[in-house]
Amino acid sequence: MSFSKKIKKVKKEFIFNLIIKDHPYIKSVIKGFIKKISRIYYSVAPKEITKVLHKFVTSESIIKNSLNNIFSTVYFELRTKCNGQCSFCAASIQNETRLDSIMSFDLYKKAIVELAEINYKGAIAFHVNSEPLLVKNIEEYISFARQHLKDSWIQILSNGKSLNSINGKKIIDAGIDELSLNIYNDDLKAELPKNIKKFEKEVLHKLFNKNQILTGHEEKRPKGKFIKYNIFKRLLTEILHSRAGTSPNKKINKPLVEERGFCEFPFQQFNVTANGNVSQCCCDLYFDSDMGNIKFQSLKEIWFGEKFMDLRKKLISGDRQSNPLCSKCDFFGLKRPPINFLRKIFYYLFKHS
Ligand code: SF4
Ligand code: SF4
Repeated sequence: MSFSKKIKKVKKEFIFNLIIKDHPYIKSVIKGFIKKISRIYYSVAPKEITKVLHKFVTSESIIKNSLNNIFSTVYFELRTKCNGQCSFCAASIQNETRLDSIMSFDLYKKAIVELAEINYKGAIAFHVNSEPLLVKNIEEYISFARQHLKDSWIQILSNGKSLNSINGKKIIDAGIDELSLNIYNDDLKAELPKNIKKFEKEVLHKLFNKNQILTGHEEKRPKGKFIKYNIFKRLLTEILHSRAGTSPNKKINKPLVEERGFCEFPFQQFNVTANGNVSQCCCDLYFDSDMGNIKFQSLKEIWFGEKFMDLRKKLISGDRQSNPLCSKCDFFGLKRPPINFLRKIFYYLFKHS
């Protein structure tokens, strides 16, 4: 990267941090404004135009996510439990109906060994719709993955409620690359919880200096000692999308489901829950879609199996309607914005539901 480009990038990041990232309240005001514009658009625009626009915005991802690609993240739901109270999530304490079960270490080992055999270099995470730090010996699972998958990106995404200086140090010592915390509250201006501040003081800032603590979404390992540490302040009462019909605070927006086609999740995510069942995406909270079970099949067999392939072909052709879960899902279909400038603008305008 040339020097002037570097300066531009630093300036952009500085302005972004100053105005948006470090001010979740301003961020939520901007979001609210864009949502309003988006709602006006959806109330007047013809369905056919929205369909074409959705195809245009998602086309970058369709090209990138070929049918032959292997997953980019394996999500282990080691324990089907969360201690959060997010209104949009059926795994929250007040909405939970699943049994509390834990993945056996042997089953987990089988999966990690298989990943090592295929020289997997993608990401490993320990949540689907669950809280990883509720797994008492989580550091043992992390450590096993670290030993066998040296180049993988190991992430803990947590609501931070159970984080303390002891388990925080253990998961860092076990070899995580990233600790990201979604701090849910009913006030975005509220201070960070005491346990998080204590962890930062007693562990994070003792083990890493400022330059070694990275932020952002990129999963690329720099040279030397580092940790990626993100804090995302979010509202407990947030309304997201229908999450394949499971979201307790969001009804399915039927017209939007019809206007949206492609979704990238089944091209990228391998979600496995405590009993070994694999789902089509993270929105399948109850693992209803039954793509296979890692107890009886290899991860590759499931990933390239008929059920996954059939779903992917349908999504590429823009068909959400024939899949029982996708037909109830108004998720836009992309986790991150496209690279192309125009597509990016449309993405931010139309991703709301
Ligand atoms: S969104 Fe995450 S933290 Fe919130 S209830 Fe669901 S699983 Fe728990
Ligand atoms: S559209 Fe389908 S694959 Fe995508 S998140 Fe929704 S249910 Fe999952």
